[in-house]
Amino acid sequence: MILNLLGEHYDITGEAKEDVDTYLELITQITAENLDASVSVKPSQIGLDISDELFVENYQKIVAHAYEHDAFVWCDMEDATTTDITIQAFCETAKAHPWTVGQCFQSNLKRTADDLADVIDVPGKIRIVKGAYNESSTIAYTDKSAVNDAYRRDIEYLFSNRSHGVAIGSHDPEMIALAQSLASEHETEYEIQMLMGVRESAQLEMAQDGVTISQYAPYGDKWFSYFYRRVRERKENALFALRAIVRS
Ligand SMILES: Cc1cc2nc3c(=O)[nH]c(=O)nc-3n(C[C@H](O)[C@H](O)[C@H](O)COP(=O)(O)OP(=O)(O)OC[C@H]3O[C@@H](n4cnc5c(N)ncnc54)[C@H](O)[C@@H]3O)c2cc1C
Repeated sequence: MILNLLGEHYDITGEAKEDVDTYLELITQITAENLDASVSVKPSQIGLDISDELFVENYQKIVAHAYEHDAFVWCDMEDATTTDITIQAFCETAKAHPWTVGQCFQSNLKRTADDLADVIDVPGKIRIVKGAYNESSTIAYTDKSAVNDAYRRDIEYLFSNRSHGVAIGSHDPEMIALAQSLASEHETEYEIQMLMGVRESAQLEMAQDGVTISQYAPYGDKWFSYFYRRVRERKENALFALRAIVRS
């Protein structure tokens, strides 16, 4: 289970600090209760809209705490204005605290193939997703089939160039089948990550077949942006997103 406290785009230091403190407490509890769980933070939730320095400081604080508690921290990727600093923070933090942090990369961005090559030896996990933010066609593939082509290419690159630490964040049966076949070919250790409430019977079946499935569970009352992104991806998502929010 990957726990994400809903909240983003804070422009007041106190709001970011509150969520950082909640993540620190959550990590302590995950370890104390010996739960098979990690957390996923958003850069703009822990200070990025206030300053790069505050984000990096908070991020390193959370990861250092996880390192001490033998826990794990994922970092979501937000819109393209945040990509540089987020990747920089990932590289620095993963080197200081190896295999304690994982970073999301978005295949819809044209830069991502180069970014993956730059981070391929960084001692942190990599979650590859199609990308949930509306970006300009100068920097991103905007056509669905071009995004799918880029996603296939990035998945193939990761499985061919890493022996472990690869996560596929997708509900797409075709992409999951591709990952499974590449994993057998290259013997790469990987996991499939899916949102709570989406294709849960498929999640269960794969888990029963021995695939590592991590369910991304958002919780808390700041649900609007999450709900909006899910419905923008697919209007049928309205129901599952509502159910996940109500459950949390
Ligand atoms: C764990 C996780 C973490 C993520 N983190 C980030 C992040 O940090 N930054 C970011 O930009 N994006 C993130 N995303 C969102 C991601 O970028 C995509 O926008 C989102 O996953 C939709 O793409 P898809 O690959 O699931 O499939 P889509 O391209 O939306 O759909 C492809 C096919 O998948 C199946 N499918 C998709 N959704 C459903 C559904 N609800 N029910 C049944 N079948 C479905 C259908 O067969 C569909 O035709 C994350 C996604 C996941 C799962």
